[in-house]
Amino acid sequence: MRLRDKTILITAAGQGIGRASALACAREGAKVIATDLNGSLLESLATESGNLVTHVLDVRDGAQVKQLAASVPVLDGLFNCAGYVHHGSVLDCDEADWDFSFDVNVKGAYRLIRSFLPGMLDRVATTGGSASIVNMASMASSIKGFPNRFAYGASKAAVIGMSKAIAADYAKLGLRCNALCPGTVDTPSLRQRIAAAADPLQAEKDFIARQPVGRLATVDDIAPQVVYLLSDESRFVTGQAVLVDGGVTI
Ligand code: NAD
Repeated sequence: MRLRDKTILITAAGQGIGRASALACAREGAKVIATDLNGSLLESLATESGNLVTHVLDVRDGAQVKQLAASVPVLDGLFNCAGYVHHGSVLDCDEADWDFSFDVNVKGAYRLIRSFLPGMLDRVATTGGSASIVNMASMASSIKGFPNRFAYGASKAAVIGMSKAIAADYAKLGLRCNALCPGTVDTPSLRQRIAAAADPLQAEKDFIARQPVGRLATVDDIAPQVVYLLSDESRFVTGQAVLVDGGVTI
């Protein structure tokens, strides 16, 4: 059990990578606090593991985040998974689009970290243990540019910068922080993006073609990386943009 006795909170755990990660962490012995904006997605998740409790949480709502931090146990691990994909170039992105992308993708993680970090640091200081934060970025970020990922790429680049800054501030205190950068993963929202394309069949082929391994990632290709980064196995890994991209950046 790689996460035995650890308490881990995950945002956007209702579906996709967040859900698979919540279940993987619970299987590895963690007490998982699984949160999502959408309460109905959480209902079915809660029945899948005895190691898991659920809370509705919108990462855009600062008051809700603070309230949750005051009501749940101190964390050993935090996975900020919530994110939003804006489709389009700079000319398709008005200020409201820009603000929304940054509010969910960057400020959402910032809110969680501001609220939960003090408790995590206190716990590490008193027990001599360690704590880990994983922030969801993407290969579409400062790592690589893609067409029609203007606000998304900019906001995920900010997530990488934020993760490195936190890693630098707290490395000596036993808290690690890394950014996870997946390639294209087959999740409900990816299926929506494919369905919304002018030619969905071609859109799916194009997503697959850009990954040298010849297929989309599944959520179960990504969740083990989350477990690793939250576990003590990665105790010497901090401030990294960890790519799991099927070879796109070869
Ligand atoms: P998804 O987009 O299919 O599901 C997103 C989940 O987030 C939903 O359960 C939704 O209810 C929840 N959510 C949306 N807004 C929220 C908010 N404001 N507060 C809390 N929860 C909210 O999931 P996914 O595709 O697995 O994406 C998860 C993360 O992984 C995102 O940050 C995404 O940018 C990132 N990512 C995805 C891919 C991919 O190809 N799918 C690739 C790289 C990175």
